[in-house]
Amino acid sequence: MAENCTDSTLSSHEIQQDRPASSPTTLPLSPELLARYAGPCPRYTSYPTADRFAPLAVDESSGAVAGAERPWDALNSVRSLSLYVHIPFCHSLCYFCACNKVITHQYGLASSYLDHLLKEAQWYRERVAPVPVTQLHLGGGTPTFLNDRDLTRLMVGLGDVFELRSGDDVEYSIEADPRVLELETLDTLRNLGFNRLSMGIQDFNPDVQRAINRICTPQQVRTLTEAARERGFGSISYDLIHGLPGQSVASLERTIDTVLELAPDRIALYHYAHLPHRFKAQRLIDSDLMPPPSEKIAMQLAASRRLTEAGYVFLGMDHFARPDDPMAIAAAEGRLARNFQGYTLMPADALVGLGASAISYSADGYWQNQHNQKEYTTAIAARGQAIFRGWQLTDDDRLRQGLIMELMCHLRIDKRELERKTGAPFAGYFHRELARLQPMFEDGLLGQSDRDLYVTERGRWFLRNAAAAFDTYLHEAQTDAQYSRVL
Ligand code: SF4
Repeated sequence: MAENCTDSTLSSHEIQQDRPASSPTTLPLSPELLARYAGPCPRYTSYPTADRFAPLAVDESSGAVAGAERPWDALNSVRSLSLYVHIPFCHSLCYFCACNKVITHQYGLASSYLDHLLKEAQWYRERVAPVPVTQLHLGGGTPTFLNDRDLTRLMVGLGDVFELRSGDDVEYSIEADPRVLELETLDTLRNLGFNRLSMGIQDFNPDVQRAINRICTPQQVRTLTEAARERGFGSISYDLIHGLPGQSVASLERTIDTVLELAPDRIALYHYAHLPHRFKAQRLIDSDLMPPPSEKIAMQLAASRRLTEAGYVFLGMDHFARPDDPMAIAAAEGRLARNFQGYTLMPADALVGLGASAISYSADGYWQNQHNQKEYTTAIAARGQAIFRGWQLTDDDRLRQGLIMELMCHLRIDKRELERKTGAPFAGYFHRELARLQPMFEDGLLGQSDRDLYVTERGRWFLRNAAAAFDTYLHEAQTDAQYSRVL
């Protein structure tokens, strides 16, 4: 099956770019090619990647952060803002999980955490310009672990500090767990201004669900999807995972068929990164059930083909959208952007991340909160914020940050614009990067004209690999960072 897959199955929308008439993008996408680029690689939701962030010295008594690294100072001159809120609590453990979460049945923990989170929000009161929050995302964990009363308390508290908006020109989204979300909570969320919903599905096969300890029926997902649509939620998104224990090409295809019947607007098809030495939960997975690498690649090909044959647009990396979804339209019009949650339609000048492990950014750099929920609440109680590391961007970082964003969102780099910024010929300034990319040119994954360097249709699978060639820090020294595999 994988051998028969050709590029025509991988994309259905045209990106405006110079392509030679004899572009090699029509060559078949073979399992061998996929295997060649399948190794570990950052996802580039930021540049530099978070594992590069450096410790920030915090004075425990005053709460002041020493040194010049205060990238949050730039928040007072932004024109738009994104908010991310991390709610780490879950009722039960999914064995594949690599998220920052706390499994508990003690609701008091969540309620107390929310007190601290709202205190953290207050820390930003004097630091953020009064600008509209164009994008808000509640992630976790399971954000709806919070009851309706506390969800309301959260949004009222955020509204006390930030300029929350409602309507079609903002994107307020929440990660929903179809196993536990009550329909009444959907009403609450809609009333609070949420207009987007994403659901973790992963796989519908009962054996796979047992192997990952996450039992969720298609009927639960159907009920939630239909109820969300009735209440006016748009762009409903499903998360699927391939490469899970007990999964096969045939079982994943059956899951995709069920998903197609439910017709979500967006689909993220993630690759499962099995790193049991790093993520304790994954040690509960029976390694004998893990599919071999060749089967994982075949799954990726089969699932992607099924989706694109059904009319979904392959946006790049692991994201698909219906052609009429604003995400697919934005991609075709070159308006797609990227932040810590992945692709977005509402890029803002800065992101404020609240809660344990949350990352924030401004034009000057990044800063991140303590990962551990207890360390986070202790820090908030002591000094109002829980920042422990960050990064001040250099001019070269900014150049590469913009370049990587352009490559991953618009599938091209404007060489002339980069020459204007660097004051040097593109081939000279980026000669090391071009040498690293040479195999990708030879494999027909990238192309070049005088004006731009572009990603071919089949190259959309390997955006992370192309971006990595421009990552100075990845190549300057050996790293012990452990990135997920591309496939
Ligand atoms: S996958 Fe989601 S619901 Fe499951 S344990 Fe992880 S954060 Fe919680």
